[in-house]
Amino acid sequence: MLKFLTLALLAGSAMATPSSFRVEIRPRQDTSKYPPVLEVVDQAHVPKEWLDALKTAVSAGKIPDIPASVLDKATGVNTYPNGVGTDPKTCSWTINQCYGKNELHEAPDGKIAVNFDDGPTTNSDSLYDFLGQNSQSATHFMIGSNVVQNAAQFKKAVDLGNQHFAVHTWSHNLMTTLTNEQIVGELGWTMQAIADQSGGYIPRYWRPPQGDIDNRVRAIAEEVFGLTSVIWNKDTDDWCLDDQGGSSCSDEQPDKIKGSVKPWITGPKSPGLIILEHELTHASIDIFKGYYPDLKGLGWDAMNIAQLSGAEWYKNAADSKAKPDDRKLLGAYQSAAPAAASSTSSAAPAAKTSSGASGQAASSSGAASAAKSGSTQPATKSNQTSGAASSTTGLGMVSLAAVVGGLAYLL
Ligand SMILES: [Zn+2]
Repeated sequence: MLKFLTLALLAGSAMATPSSFRVEIRPRQDTSKYPPVLEVVDQAHVPKEWLDALKTAVSAGKIPDIPASVLDKATGVNTYPNGVGTDPKTCSWTINQCYGKNELHEAPDGKIAVNFDDGPTTNSDSLYDFLGQNSQSATHFMIGSNVVQNAAQFKKAVDLGNQHFAVHTWSHNLMTTLTNEQIVGELGWTMQAIADQSGGYIPRYWRPPQGDIDNRVRAIAEEVFGLTSVIWNKDTDDWCLDDQGGSSCSDEQPDKIKGSVKPWITGPKSPGLIILEHELTHASIDIFKGYYPDLKGLGWDAMNIAQLSGAEWYKNAADSKAKPDDRKLLGAYQSAAPAAASSTSSAAPAAKTSSGASGQAASSSGAASAAKSGSTQPATKSNQTSGAASSTTGLGMVSLAAVVGGLAYLL
């Protein structure tokens, strides 16, 4: 038995018990178990522990019964069956820019989030060099498959020592089109890849590709993984740019895209800015490099997403200066059962909040880039520190379920 306990402790022993549906990721696992890159994670590649947690969350009524949306591949537009999607129960950002109550989409006054999607890419090096030269921390919403495929670039970002890593799914598909099980796989494996290859940092923020999120997807991310979703309040459309001077978007010409940021950073500082930007091409990265030197003179305070509200960067570390603490993870896990039920209501507003609420549609009309409506800040320290008191407990805190689950995972 002692051998089993030791194994479980080595594995981090952060498991979902029958009374808990909160999964914690254990860093430094066997990377050969990753699912195929850039493919939607199918159920066969989702660990039983995660599926069990999902089942428990569904049984507890924590995951709304909302049908998956259907993507029209010809138009690239996804719609819901039976006309749902505009209702507050679904709260689709894609359909009507509806925000969830814990969703972060704008910054406090005077603050600008430095953040990039879709990395790491083979073009990311120049961005990382630039951020390093300026001692600037940024949040990188990483694609799990890219973390695996572009491991050298990811390591370069990790080695900078001040970058912040968050989740942008495994395969970069529209999340509302996926099954509950696929969503669990997409989020979990990206968390796992980041944790494994960053030295153990477990993400606590994520951004849905193209902002495609609804209350079903939100609930899975929050309840099963404790992830806070992040949207934006300005969109450069920089992903349209190629490195031959062109744009892949017929209605977004390069000059328009390149000029999009200036009015935002020279305009009012309330609310603050979360601009959607990408580390895809040199052209998209160059937009950031172009305006960044002006920010200080214009009075902006530039920081990563977690810093906007003074929140912890990771589920097991306050920031990149702190070593990932698996004992803290264990403590957070042990307290997850009572905390999980309130994971969408334990918000600790630390930054700007406004009138939004769960199920309330944004005030903007149509374009994603015009989304303006406010909502409350995501849960911050309350979720993460609630288990600190038990974080130093040892063998006695390891439940039988954790031991069995830990072994199952190792095998
Ligand atoms: Zn993306």
